[in-house]
Amino acid sequence: MVFALTAAVVLALAIIARALLLLSPDSLYTVKMDEDKKFIKWVDFNVPYSLLEKTLTLDIKSYGTETKLNWIELLAYCAAKCGGNFKKHKNSTLDNLVKELKNGKQISELAKDLKYYPYYYEAYSAVLGGFVGEFEIEVDDKDNPGQKKFVKKYGLKAFSPIAKGYGYSHYDDFGNSRSYGFSRKHLGNDLMGSVGTPIIAVESGIVEAMGWNQYGGWRIGIRSFDGLRYYYYAHLRKNHPYNNTLSEGQVVKAGDVIGYLGMTGYSTKPNVNNIKTPHLHFGMQLIFDESQKESVNEIWIDVYNIVRLLNKNRSAVMKDPELNDYFRVYDIKDPAVPQILDSSLLIR
Ligand SMILES: [Zn+2]
Repeated sequence: MVFALTAAVVLALAIIARALLLLSPDSLYTVKMDEDKKFIKWVDFNVPYSLLEKTLTLDIKSYGTETKLNWIELLAYCAAKCGGNFKKHKNSTLDNLVKELKNGKQISELAKDLKYYPYYYEAYSAVLGGFVGEFEIEVDDKDNPGQKKFVKKYGLKAFSPIAKGYGYSHYDDFGNSRSYGFSRKHLGNDLMGSVGTPIIAVESGIVEAMGWNQYGGWRIGIRSFDGLRYYYYAHLRKNHPYNNTLSEGQVVKAGDVIGYLGMTGYSTKPNVNNIKTPHLHFGMQLIFDESQKESVNEIWIDVYNIVRLLNKNRSAVMKDPELNDYFRVYDIKDPAVPQILDSSLLIR
């Protein structure tokens, strides 16, 4: 009862705080007087899928050309132009921007009168900053059948959380109401699939949390190397939730198998299947300041369109019968992983 009451008060405060924040875009930034630090307080990630896809394609296709386009800059410009209300976005805004950039204009010059361009650029960099870049990945070596070789690539280097060849379904369920424990909002995307489906690390990072959580069941939290993104994968399989080679503090690379889809959670007692429909709960929290990590100021974003986009990049997996675990087939060299790290920290 005391818990329910405290939770209700905390929730009420969170709602009031959120409402105050939404009053004006100026309050999206906050100044912490004691530390004299300024950091982003709130992000609504509501970029339409078509725009994500279009800007991603422009970015990748312009790689190695005279005018390299940056999808985050393009998206931030469009957001600043429509005031973050993409219902007002016009295709001509993006087309004209690309034309100007190809004519040699700089984004700093074109966006200089857009007051909120720096906010959107920083916010979208936090969301998408680890998704695109140069990397090396293994492919089948046609000259040596059965062998693999590394090739250099530029493009999407973040992976779908669901392994290649495994079906799933989802819809935009961000913000829907949940009642287990206390009335609250759903802060992620549920991907319905079969129990045992290998779950993939979306981005490279460090395992920050593993183990039982009353709400998430067997869950795993992975922090990106820039510290800005915390990926949360929950309701993992009963009895064998994780890839057994994983532990807290360990480094995972984008595309690694981290665990298995299940239905654990909604129980104070560990290893209990209290989730009705097997699914992966996938969430992304933004952390601009460590004070935001576990507080009423947590920023969870709607990842539905991101999951759709990541469907373009699925990690192929294979079972190792001796280890009784699934592993990726094609290894990656991700520049985001610090080189000085002890290789014993890596999976396999
Ligand atoms: Zn969920």
